[in-house]
Amino acid sequence: MNNCLFCKIVKGEIPSEKVYEDEEILAFKDINPAAPIHILVIPKKHIESLAYIEKEDETLIGKIYGVINQIAKEQGIKEKGYRVIVNCGEDGGQEVMHLHFHLLAGTKLGEKIV
Ligand code: AMP
Ligand code: ZN
Repeated sequence: MNNCLFCKIVKGEIPSEKVYEDEEILAFKDINPAAPIHILVIPKKHIESLAYIEKEDETLIGKIYGVINQIAKEQGIKEKGYRVIVNCGEDGGQEVMHLHFHLLAGTKLGEKIV
């Protein structure tokens, strides 16, 4: 956890282009965007992946979806649409082991994107 890239972003040790922040949730632009709009939404709390969500995290996960929809509204993509992806574990293609939700939009998205 100490060496976690996204925990460092939460702490401000690594810079990020923030688009949303509250006590529990942070959203920032993906450094290597796969679409015109590519935002990562993360819990500030270190959760390794979707597979490690505990019962007590379920409210937080619900809030994350609320934040995603708020960002979608602010980004003007509510009506056109967007895609939310969570890669989980090695076979799921997860590279950063801190739970994150990819919010992708701004173009007609192809089948496989991140
Ligand atoms: P995943 O493959 O689902 O683990 O996604 C990790 C994502 O984190 C990739 O889309 C990367 O482009 C993105 N990423 C890696 N380092 C940074 C960073 N310093 N700031 C913003 N996004 C990053
Ligand atoms: Zn972390």
